[in-house]
Amino acid sequence: MRTCSSCFQNDLKNLECGIGDDAHEIHEVLICNCCNIYWNRDVMAAKNMFAIAESTWNGHGRPPIFTRQCATSNVVAEP
Ligand SMILES: [Zn+2]
Repeated sequence: MRTCSSCFQNDLKNLECGIGDDAHEIHEVLICNCCNIYWNRDVMAAKNMFAIAESTWNGHGRPPIFTRQCATSNVVAEP
């Protein structure tokens, strides 16, 4: 789940560090290009899970931004 907990956009990228041959991505830190927040990915995921739970508990169901967009993602190949 890579949805910003602040603006609910899916435009997040990993923080990049270094230059040239030393350049690499930092997996734990995501940057929202919309609101320019630096997220620890685990904190952001926890906040998103809480938003889903809170919406469900209040009888509103899963927020549309957190629903699956691809119907084939649950398909299991048969042997
Ligand atoms: Zn954002």
